[in-house]
Amino acid sequence: MHVNSRNSVDFHDVAVVGAGPAGCEASLAAAAAGASTICLTINLDAVALHPANPVLADGTGDPRMQLLEELDGAGAALPGLLKEPGASIESGARTVIDRRVLGLAYKERLESANGLSPRQSLVTSISPDKGIWNIATGLGETFRAAAVVVAAGTYLNGVVTAGGVSTPGGRHGDITANALARCIKCLGVAMERTIATTYPRLDARRAVNAGDGMLPLDEAVLGELYGTDVDVDGNRAAALKQLRRTAGYAEGWITRPGYTVHHHILTADQVDSNLQALRQNGLFFAGKAAGSCNYTEAAALGFVSGKNAAALATGAADKKLTSKHIIVTKLCHAISRQQSRPVTIRIPPPGC
Ligand SMILES: Cc1cc2nc3c(=O)[nH]c(=O)nc-3n(C[C@H](O)[C@H](O)[C@H](O)COP(=O)(O)OP(=O)(O)OC[C@H]3O[C@@H](n4cnc5c(N)ncnc54)[C@H](O)[C@@H]3O)c2cc1C
Repeated sequence: MHVNSRNSVDFHDVAVVGAGPAGCEASLAAAAAGASTICLTINLDAVALHPANPVLADGTGDPRMQLLEELDGAGAALPGLLKEPGASIESGARTVIDRRVLGLAYKERLESANGLSPRQSLVTSISPDKGIWNIATGLGETFRAAAVVVAAGTYLNGVVTAGGVSTPGGRHGDITANALARCIKCLGVAMERTIATTYPRLDARRAVNAGDGMLPLDEAVLGELYGTDVDVDGNRAAALKQLRRTAGYAEGWITRPGYTVHHHILTADQVDSNLQALRQNGLFFAGKAAGSCNYTEAAALGFVSGKNAAALATGAADKKLTSKHIIVTKLCHAISRQQSRPVTIRIPPPGC
């Protein structure tokens, strides 16, 4: 390590790219481990903005329930944040969130954590130079860090298809992270294409009696229903026609379109079970960009990568999670080795 570089104001022990569930957990875990940490994200008003269905775990048989318990024991932020007023909604055995409250709680935690600097900037490249990573942004800044965690979600070479039209985007209405994706490829890290899909949201006030195929999960929060039986990628007029044939929804309206994002994630055999790249020391991956499937798993991978990046950057002894964290360990192992992507601990694996 180069002492002079480390003394400059733009140097941090750990740089995290992204502030979804994975990036937030990585940043908080790294800072909690004593690493000076910078978290760079496209939009600070959209921290931990969970894009769709607000279910974190689906009852006692869902291994994500055990994952949440393990994360609680290990000191991740998510289980504690869920206990904050309004962050989770009573829904039987399900763990359901109010996405806006949880996102704000994560943002406040990022802003108040010691040693943690959240910044709004699009990262365009990461490159190693004599043991230090240079992180360049679209605003012309360059930061330096001993370790980098990439938690870029669905933004790497993202293409959004909505209403039958495809445009570049990390999510509907968002920009992409194509320059970063090119850079990751140049670093010798292999990626492959996958998708994430969300249903159209429907105006709940126009539903006389929500028929089959509608999931009223967000009704309490946003006055919206999920149109689970309504075509996701097709023409909006056709989707509306289809919707209005549904019982109780003759006057229905689509408040937000369904859409699909095609994007890049890591292939198998790119990271070890600490989530560090096999061919790049100090480069870690987490969340959907690493190949996970859902919010809870993304948060878990973020937590692990942040802890391990901090341990590497600060020269602390390896602080790997203990063997009692069975589900976390299983998930990291699957991200490292499992060929079929995206990876999930749920059995049978539902779509992402
Ligand atoms: C349409 C859609 C529907 C989904 N539905 C569900 C669902 O119902 N349930 C579920 O569990 N999961 C769902 N997912 C998957 C979901 O994306 C993940 O589970 C979760 O959000 C992944 O968290 P993450 O932190 O890895 O990534 P994200 O939440 O996607 O966060 C990525 C972050 O990285 C930032 N970023 C990206 N590139 C850069 C860059 N170059 N520079 C700076 N910042 C950058 C973004 O701004 C964002 O803050 C859905 C995803 C999409 C797109």
